[in-house]
Amino acid sequence: MEGQNGRERAGQEKGFSEAELKTCYQDFDPAAYLQYNYTPPRASFDNKDNIVPWQLGWLHRAFTEGDVKGDILVDIGSGPTLYQVMSGCERFRRVILSDFVEANRRELQNWLQGKSNSLDWTPFFQYVCKLEGRSPDAWSEKAQRLRSVVTDVLPIDVHQPHPLSPEALPPSGADCLISCFCLESASPDLASFNRALGHISSLLRQGGHLLLIGTLEMTFYYAAPELCIPAVRLDEAQLCSSLKNCGFQLLELSVYNLPQDMQKSTDDARSMFFVKAKKQ
Ligand code: SAM
Repeated sequence: MEGQNGRERAGQEKGFSEAELKTCYQDFDPAAYLQYNYTPPRASFDNKDNIVPWQLGWLHRAFTEGDVKGDILVDIGSGPTLYQVMSGCERFRRVILSDFVEANRRELQNWLQGKSNSLDWTPFFQYVCKLEGRSPDAWSEKAQRLRSVVTDVLPIDVHQPHPLSPEALPPSGADCLISCFCLESASPDLASFNRALGHISSLLRQGGHLLLIGTLEMTFYYAAPELCIPAVRLDEAQLCSSLKNCGFQLLELSVYNLPQDMQKSTDDARSMFFVKAKKQ
């Protein structure tokens, strides 16, 4: 692992194409990615200001306050993770998970089928139960609820004008999209990010909600010990203008600055954002 030097290897300066980035993703290692990002210190639940509790807190609020509910919730670029739908699974009749990488889809299917997994999601479920005012012991009921509402784990490519297969959704689209750390990690530059946002917007019904979590100013992250993936370096103003240009009304924006002890050599993220927006 090369830390900061990984930037060069990542290809940010070389100007990776979307196609080259897709090739990188073939070596995505779900277990390593989960280890880098979803174990302590980032995923320690003793302090609500740690990264993962911050993410879960915003998702809990987004799904419990206001009218973010309905028939179909689609998670775009789920990766090998489940935390992002633990609140939403209570508010939608169907949840569709999706990812570009087959190994990630397999990891999700394994969990859905109760097979062995690269990460124990129990503390995440327990934390979300506490946010919902339930006993942490209710975590297995919540896990069961999630297993019962996830109807599909689909291949997706945000760089295609139709990212999902045409029969995946009704013609009116999903009621809500959620996407965490996907678009900026899948896009080599801002133009590509903007196009990808437009593509996923076509999956959402008019008046539906978009919940986005992502990184600001990040230029690379590791998705395996030797796999440094370049990301588009996005700032807050670019994010807001991308959303506006794609027809979204921004309802909520929160920025989290990573404390020193949450910064790692496996990425150069220094801040993260949570966005709640509505398709106009
Ligand atoms: N959503 C997970 C999370 O919150 O940790 C995973 C985020 S990971 C940084 C980026 C994800 O984007 C990976 O799972 C990757 O497979 C997916 N991805 C990469 N290129 C993509 C593409 N063209 N279309 C859709 N997803 C893509």
